[in-house]
Amino acid sequence: MSLLRKLFGRRDAAKPRVRVCVECGMPIAEHKPWCSIFRTQQAMNQRAEDAPTAS
Ligand SMILES: [Zn+2]
Repeated sequence: MSLLRKLFGRRDAAKPRVRVCVECGMPIAEHKPWCSIFRTQQAMNQRAEDAPTAS
């Protein structure tokens, strides 16, 4: 019970809004390894890095 009270009691404290992933429910900085959104992100990053700068 004290835990709940702690949680609700802290509602007043202005805490920074953390964007949570809709897929894994974790903060976007802490995706689960199995998260598909995370994987997509990784793939995109990889592609961006691998992309040859055609010049
Ligand atoms: Zn995620």
